[in-house]
Amino acid sequence: MQKVAIVTGGSRGIGRAIVETLARKGINVIANYNQSEEKAKQLQENLGKENIHIDIIKADVSKREEVKKMVDMVIKKYGKIDVLINNAGISQEKLFQDITDDDWEHVMKVNLYSAFCATQEVLPYMLSQKRGCIINISSIYGIIGGSCAVAYSATKAGMDGMTKALAKELGPSNIRVNSIAPGCIDTDMNKQYTEEDMNQVKEETPLERIGKPEDIAKCAMWLVEDTFTTGQVISINGGWGII
Ligand code: NAP
Repeated sequence: MQKVAIVTGGSRGIGRAIVETLARKGINVIANYNQSEEKAKQLQENLGKENIHIDIIKADVSKREEVKKMVDMVIKKYGKIDVLINNAGISQEKLFQDITDDDWEHVMKVNLYSAFCATQEVLPYMLSQKRGCIINISSIYGIIGGSCAVAYSATKAGMDGMTKALAKELGPSNIRVNSIAPGCIDTDMNKQYTEEDMNQVKEETPLERIGKPEDIAKCAMWLVEDTFTTGQVISINGGWGII
């Protein structure tokens, strides 16, 4: 049977590109969405025109009961989960002094707790198969830090820490855990920036362009197929922020 993969936040942006790439490679993909129901349905319909089936499941991944329900549905249909891609996330731009407790808690829940929660829920199935691949979509900001993005950067650094620790814990069970830390990628997340801002990023990027969601999807596909990479934080960034 083909591999089964859950992609959180698979309705648009990077998650959508990952869903398309994996599904076109014959993987049974479950695209999770929360608010973008129309976009998720459209994605399902578009891939259907290529004779590719994907499942779409609504779940707010910052809530354990919804994650658990989603995982139960996947197990009921496919009986296994081979790949989990923790992609869902939100940005938060604020001066450090202006971050409230609610702001902090919200970004932690959506970006970091969601990955903890989804990983815990799929793990029993991966452990019983003695096989699994977990990919956390973190961010270059978790490595170099983003000004006015302290909470966001902390969630992404937290994800990378989780990746490394869990890779050590789960390696003997043949479960690989890696992070992909994107640089600046052309998605809705960066819509608030002006053309001038984006041009500045381009100028600071050795490869002289903004990344595309497909750039991240290619790396995710490679990690799914690979068998000897674990505990790594792979930053796909065109050279932006080389340290
Ligand atoms: P995006 O276009 O804004 O998409 C965000 C995705 O996350 C959407 O599919 C959204 O689903 C989902 N999401 C948000 N909250 C959710 C929740 N509570 N439950 C389930 N899904 C939720 O952003 P993107 O650029 O594709 O970002 C994807 C990941 O890459 C994020 O983790 C982000 O931090 C990371 N990243 C992005 C960049 C960049 O430059 N774009 C750089 C570094 C890292 P709905 O619309 O259905 O709610």
